[in-house]
Amino acid sequence: MFFLIRVGEISLKGGNRGYFEDKLVRNIKRRLRPFKPKLTLSKGRVLLEIQDAAENASMGVLSTTFGIVGYAKATVAEKRIDDVRTAVFHEVECFLETRGQGTFKIAARRSDKSFPLTSHEIAEAIGDDIRARFPEMTVDVHHPDLVVHVEIRDRAYVYGNGAGGPGGLPVGVAGRGILLLSGGIDSPVSGYLMAKRGLAIEAVYFHTYPYTAEEALGKVKTLVEKLSGPCCGLNLYVVHFTEVALAIRRGAPRPQTTLLMRAAMMDCASRIGGLRGALCLVTGESLSQVASQTAQSMRFTGSTSRLPVFRPLIALDKEEIVTTAKKIGTYETSILPFEDCCTVFSPEKPLIRPDFALMQHSYAGLGLDGPVSASIAGMERFWYPPA
Ligand code: ATP
Ligand code: MG
Repeated sequence: MFFLIRVGEISLKGGNRGYFEDKLVRNIKRRLRPFKPKLTLSKGRVLLEIQDAAENASMGVLSTTFGIVGYAKATVAEKRIDDVRTAVFHEVECFLETRGQGTFKIAARRSDKSFPLTSHEIAEAIGDDIRARFPEMTVDVHHPDLVVHVEIRDRAYVYGNGAGGPGGLPVGVAGRGILLLSGGIDSPVSGYLMAKRGLAIEAVYFHTYPYTAEEALGKVKTLVEKLSGPCCGLNLYVVHFTEVALAIRRGAPRPQTTLLMRAAMMDCASRIGGLRGALCLVTGESLSQVASQTAQSMRFTGSTSRLPVFRPLIALDKEEIVTTAKKIGTYETSILPFEDCCTVFSPEKPLIRPDFALMQHSYAGLGLDGPVSASIAGMERFWYPPA
């Protein structure tokens, strides 16, 4: 069977277009590999040929692969008007099965000028045939319920309304970034949104066992599994951070601990980023959501990173974040009870407007270089293939 795939913003990328399309084709291939898909590119469209048994799997992948704005099951026919008509009738019958009646339009495009009918003539002839054969269908060229596309190229391609894709850009075109992933609601959404803009994601989770439960790690793993499809596969690095957390707790005034802990995470994640060739860090922070997410706090916590820190949720309300989390299917996991930030390390009165120089001084005085390096040396990697 065949699917015709429409790509969106990619086609605006001028000279880079080939690169973007190539990435998209590779990503679809990777995700559908078990079904041996065949993909071809022509004139801004991608044609997917795949075994019939993979219909549902294909639709699942195409509706969640960034860079795709829409797709439709297509009939590929010989360039003969009778064959085209049969394929168009098939589309109308499929439509009527679910809708019973409606309006339609034929959108014909003839790239092969040796075909005897012009685009207009194709639309007119086949439109007449539909009206004669299916009295429950009427023409509406402005707001039709069903658009049947007929494209005459190397062969004839016929397809109906189809379904939407997620939009965005193919994962990988924007390089690689390190997502600081906790088990909460925000950071999975953050990673998803950055992947949508073409960033290849690697996730880092800071585990402070036994102060945080083993189940918190289980939650993070479930979240990574859920992100692995749209992210086209990703690594999860589990960094054992208990020594670092204890050093902060021992050596710093209590109100500073949360900020110092975040700063240590940024420091550590950016070093991992350096090892992995990443261009940026990504967090789930949102302005004023909690004490550690004021502009003053983030100025300090981000200052220990050697890479720019991207915060795609910075201007979103919690409600908007929750809506997205539900849409992408991470919400149910995120709200499971195991908290990643343990009370042992959180001050009762966290700083809201920390003094930048003072915090930097505290951080430098803790001598975290050794513990942070050790945590990187001991980190574990888990690979989640694209699902
Ligand atoms: P989230 O919902 O993502 O947990 P949050 O609103 O609870 O975010 P914080 O707990 O203050 O906010 O964390 C802010 C950001 O720091 C998180 O979005 C995440 O990017 C990062 N972060 C916090 N804890 C961890 C952790 N244990 N491992 C990795 N990253 C973390
Ligand atoms: Mg959290």
